[in-house]
Amino acid sequence: MELTIDKFESWSPVKERPLIISGPCSAESEEQLMDTCTQLYKEGIRVMRAGVWKPRTRPGGFEGIGKEALGWIQNVKKELGVKFAVEVANPDHVEACLAAGIDILWVGARSTVNPFTVQEIADSLVGVDVPVLIKNPINPDLALWLGAIERINKAGITKIGAIHRGFSSFQKTKYRNVPAWQFPIELKREFPEMPLFGDPSHICGNREMLLDVAQKGLDLNYDGLMIESHRDPDNAWSDAKQQVTPARLGEMVRELKPKSAHS
Ligand code: PEP
Ligand code: MN
Repeated sequence: MELTIDKFESWSPVKERPLIISGPCSAESEEQLMDTCTQLYKEGIRVMRAGVWKPRTRPGGFEGIGKEALGWIQNVKKELGVKFAVEVANPDHVEACLAAGIDILWVGARSTVNPFTVQEIADSLVGVDVPVLIKNPINPDLALWLGAIERINKAGITKIGAIHRGFSSFQKTKYRNVPAWQFPIELKREFPEMPLFGDPSHICGNREMLLDVAQKGLDLNYDGLMIESHRDPDNAWSDAKQQVTPARLGEMVRELKPKSAHS
């Protein structure tokens, strides 16, 4: 299918490449969010992320603060003048995020896997002009990823990017989600104009491999990275093992080499 996708330069919230999006897996409290984002700002981050509704695999865990956290995000945006990305998984989320002035929406891996869900999100975006990032589905199925991108695009969204966050695997591997690097490469082949982001946090599931996986994305010419950061990673309410402090995030970003510098 032919897609109409705007050039990344025309909608990216910042000029710097790669675009680094960082922030906590989940918004937990107004103070945690403000503190984390203020520290990230000092490290040069200008586009933040935070989970408001959390798609937990099993019930009983923290499922996100919900709408109240959008007010906290608005305060952070006002205070720091940054842009914010939030995951949406249904039309209510889309409506609430748009009303709150969220700058970028993203579709999570557990939503991309379901065409009904993606279509509902797409229908709620008709007539709306907002960038939407689409994570790969949790299972290694390129057609589902392509299909989700096509559904969102058919709804009239032209500011689209893809996020590579790795794939669930039956086998135990060193990754939380195996990267299967050929999938994003094939995706790019289908839609060469589309910006592509890496999500080393959800690929790795730990802090140790983050830098290498982030670098691999840049070596493949990714346009940006989404990396989770929390002021107190060990005590995070979700994804504690893979989050890094803002200070470490800043250090990592400075350690990353642009593709041309070492290839
Ligand atoms: C997240 O970004 O915190 C998240 C839930 O990611 P994914 O959809 O990749 O599992
Ligand atoms: Mn997470």
